[in-house]
Amino acid sequence: MDRSTTRNLRSGLKRGVGSGIKVLAAASDRVRRPPAGVTVLIYHRVGRRAAVEMDLDASVFDAQMAELAASGRVVDLDAALAILAGDAPRPIRDPIVVTFDDGTADFAEVAVPILERHGVPAVMYLATAFLDEGRPFPHDGAPMSWAAARDALASGVVTYGSHTHTHALLDRIDPEVAAAELDRSIDRIAAETGAAPRHFAYPKAVAPSAPVAALVRARFASAALAGTRRNPYGATDPLALARSPIQAGDAMVWFRRKVDGGLGLEDRLRGAANRVRYRGATT
Ligand SMILES: [Zn+2]
Repeated sequence: MDRSTTRNLRSGLKRGVGSGIKVLAAASDRVRRPPAGVTVLIYHRVGRRAAVEMDLDASVFDAQMAELAASGRVVDLDAALAILAGDAPRPIRDPIVVTFDDGTADFAEVAVPILERHGVPAVMYLATAFLDEGRPFPHDGAPMSWAAARDALASGVVTYGSHTHTHALLDRIDPEVAAAELDRSIDRIAAETGAAPRHFAYPKAVAPSAPVAALVRARFASAALAGTRRNPYGATDPLALARSPIQAGDAMVWFRRKVDGGLGLEDRLRGAANRVRYRGATT
């Protein structure tokens, strides 16, 4: 272990278990270096309206976007897919894609002005029923209105994707129900924003059953899961993109590790816990 790992280990242990897991994950990255490729980051909320890990302080998000913009590594999802497929040249430094899930009001109010200021493009995957009905997301997540969604689109940095209609978990529903979920969200986004979504993100990153995966493949150019790792060049299925969630507890050092495709062990531990937590859930 080198000096910086030891230092991180010591400060991580001081901050408790969550950081302890990050420290272990960072140590495991030193044994197996992340491969070259595209990192896709996941955000949920900005503005710290709820004291949950998925809700970042606006100043923290601003600092992260400033750093990404300065790095010159941020690309939009379509450009990243072209690079991954070998249809566009690989940049010298590995590209980063910014994505958001769900469609809460803070996206239009807080996140988009920051993205716009730094010129950072982002995909927002919408669970359309929440916008249609003004239905709140868990942890007091007020949904965005469609009018706000259209205003955000006018910034020029936003692309909308689908996240099903009701945030349905696609590993446990009939293919007919899944098809209706996908088609409804596609139709609603097309009707409200003028463009059908080409990209999809699985709710709670649960991997689909095989018949449902085929439905997704037939409708979208890409689909995102979790994984907290890079998507390697020439060896990535665009319908099973790995993403790295950025959390409120990620100090800049952990943010940088995730940008560089690290901390996969943290994801594997979280995935094991979530499989238990979501066992009886449907959304
Ligand atoms: Zn979601």
